[in-house]
Amino acid sequence: MSEISFLAQVNRMFEKAAVHTKHPKGLLDQIRICNSTYAMQFPLKRDDGSIEVIRAWRAEHSQHKTPTKGGIRYAPNVNEDEVTALASLMTYKCAIVDVPFGGAKGGICIDRRKYSEAELERITRRYTFELVKKNFIGPGIDVPAPDYGTGAKEMSWILDTYNSLTSDSLDALACVTGKPVGQGGVRGRKEATGRGVFFGLREACSHAEDMAQLGLSPGLTGKTVIVQGLGNVGYHAAKFIQEGGAIIVGLAEYEGAIYNANGLDLEKVVKHRKETGSILNFPGAENITHSQAALELPCDILVPAALEAVIVGENATRIQAKIIAEGANGPVTAHADTILNERGIMIIPDVFLNAGGVTVSYFEWLRNLQHVRFGRMSKRFEQNMQTRMLDAIQTIMGKKLDPQFMEEVIHGASEEDLVNSGLEDTMINAYNEIRMIAQQHKTDLRTASFINAIDKVAVSYLEMGIFP
Ligand code: NAD
Repeated sequence: MSEISFLAQVNRMFEKAAVHTKHPKGLLDQIRICNSTYAMQFPLKRDDGSIEVIRAWRAEHSQHKTPTKGGIRYAPNVNEDEVTALASLMTYKCAIVDVPFGGAKGGICIDRRKYSEAELERITRRYTFELVKKNFIGPGIDVPAPDYGTGAKEMSWILDTYNSLTSDSLDALACVTGKPVGQGGVRGRKEATGRGVFFGLREACSHAEDMAQLGLSPGLTGKTVIVQGLGNVGYHAAKFIQEGGAIIVGLAEYEGAIYNANGLDLEKVVKHRKETGSILNFPGAENITHSQAALELPCDILVPAALEAVIVGENATRIQAKIIAEGANGPVTAHADTILNERGIMIIPDVFLNAGGVTVSYFEWLRNLQHVRFGRMSKRFEQNMQTRMLDAIQTIMGKKLDPQFMEEVIHGASEEDLVNSGLEDTMINAYNEIRMIAQQHKTDLRTASFINAIDKVAVSYLEMGIFP
């Protein structure tokens, strides 16, 4: 089987799941197709005075729920097929974690390392201008967020441009998520996707019978892990996975990879990379100059968290990991997926596992519309109630409790506590939902995730009365 385009891969996974459902063909077609795409080309005046044409897209895959939601990626090979595939994944992802949005995605075809900050700002602002002009952005229309190559800074440029072009500014903060905290961002958004990868992976590893099938013991503790990509998703996933008791044995970046079977200290590796400009030559670790080869080294869990199509038909037979935890979108091609499933490797799919970002983006959007920080009205109340409860316990016991214990128990939930617990609950529930569907249909977790998503989107369409 040869490799096919990213969108064709996503659609193949959709079709594989669709046969497990009883929905009419027309409804399945409507769920699968992309509703609207804006392909744009605009001029950039570079710092040296030359003019360059920039190509960019925004795809709104499904408006069965609005706003539509999805990140914006800056990458040199981004194209319409990729943006549409990613927008489709967003629709299914939102459905799987019960986030009431349709899916969307944006892409600008640039290698951000080749542009100055001022040029990146001009590109981002012009892109936003185009979106406003064509009604492709707004708190109730389409809400972008960070993705590969973008972060809080780009989101604040988007917000500022949107604000300056629109007159109704009351809810304008909700036109984009992943903003800096001082500009309406929510605490915990930056770490959310990586933290969600950790919660999802920890839940998957908690089922003793599933782990036994892989020849592993339950729990994350002691499991060996290789992470590809030390960006937003990869770094945070590695950080929380390491804190959760697993051992990071391999880390891969575009310049190369490092491996140490006894474990790598993530923070020390990050410091080393900052100081030397490369992940390579980290003390005590083996250098892997061809970064991609790191995916094939021994480990229990492999976390691809960089880009799509890194595990393909060609290298799928050599993967030694027992679990592949998809931090990135589309890291395993449809061909590789078939091979890995036949080999009994567990794949925790992107449509579920990296949904932490959109989940917390949903919380940020809600916070912006409510115009109040989560926990502002309840924190002190909770604190007072807990103090009274512990005082009563001390009175009954006739002795004082440990002051440190008191402090830990008494504090009311902060915004970050609430965001993280909402994320944890979402990832645990969603995992158990897809695990149950996988058991019912005797299929893999990816197919189960798509079945779940198709059923939920179908219900929305049926409730609209469009289909009989
Ligand atoms: P990022 O730009 O913050 O980080 C990507 C990292 O991958 C960079 O450090 C880059 O140097 C590295 N990289 C690039 N090519 C590589 C290669 N060939 N080998 C190893 N490393 C390589 O991007 P991100 O936001 O972390 O996104 C990564 C993936 O996660 C993408 O597929 C994205 O769509 C997906 N994702 C991101 C979010 C989010 O909230 N940011 C949410 C869901 C899914």
